[in-house]
Amino acid sequence: MKICSACGSAFSHVGWLCPHCGIQPEERNGFTAFAPGLCSNAGFRDDHFNELIELEARNFWFRARNRLIVWALLHYFPNKENLLEVGCGTGFVLNGIASAFPKMKLSGSEISSVGLAYAAKRLQNADLFQMDARSIPFCNEFDVIAAFDVLEHIEEDETVLAQMYQAIRIDGGLMITVPQHKFLWSRVDEHACHVRRYAARDLVRKVKAAGFEIVRKTSFVSLLLPLMMASRSLQRGENPNYDPLAELRISDLPNNVFERIMAIERWAIRLGFSFPVGGSLLLIAKKIK
Ligand SMILES: [Zn+2]
Repeated sequence: MKICSACGSAFSHVGWLCPHCGIQPEERNGFTAFAPGLCSNAGFRDDHFNELIELEARNFWFRARNRLIVWALLHYFPNKENLLEVGCGTGFVLNGIASAFPKMKLSGSEISSVGLAYAAKRLQNADLFQMDARSIPFCNEFDVIAAFDVLEHIEEDETVLAQMYQAIRIDGGLMITVPQHKFLWSRVDEHACHVRRYAARDLVRKVKAAGFEIVRKTSFVSLLLPLMMASRSLQRGENPNYDPLAELRISDLPNNVFERIMAIERWAIRLGFSFPVGGSLLLIAKKIK
């Protein structure tokens, strides 16, 4: 079901013209915009998309995260037919999901219509729209909702989780990744407009409070955690040569080595081992009622 952003009525026909109040969301840059006032938002700067589009395709972290996500989707939610990615950015993850699940109906939302334009270039068949994650205009609609490194940008993360719960069908699933451990906080987080890095127990508490049942929780970027700690502590001081993107611009040799290490880690996760610590956290949950 769709929920009218103007009057709150539910309806299920094609298109977004509300049969109750006759209001239709406006379009911005060719995308349906549910929160046009927030098109250029404070939580994620538009110039990040320009940085990301260059870096994510070759960077080990983005590549390894995609593989982990595709595995988790296949393992925990086989035969699901549709998925919404909240905060789809440049569409890098949705593109990976589309390759692995060509029959799945994919939707992606982003608060910035600049990000959506990048995503649209990669994804011809996905339904892309501008939306505030704190106000999701759907009810019992999606088999899976995913948010990969999104919640840490949003002050009201509990509102987002409650909205996701409403928009997921019963027996549907939630997939989340977030940056983990407060002790890793550095200027990288500030540059990325993070509000927080999570402690696993806090995210679990918030996800359960929204109504979900936890299915799987594991850290990742665990074997590389010592290197990450070293890198982040170097960035904490007043270094005049500080480059917030240094971790993303690493050269080919370490990039390849790190990608191999992430593959070993993924192998262990697939076998059922859940890492207690790591730079990121993967959480899988279900809506059971
Ligand atoms: Zn309405």
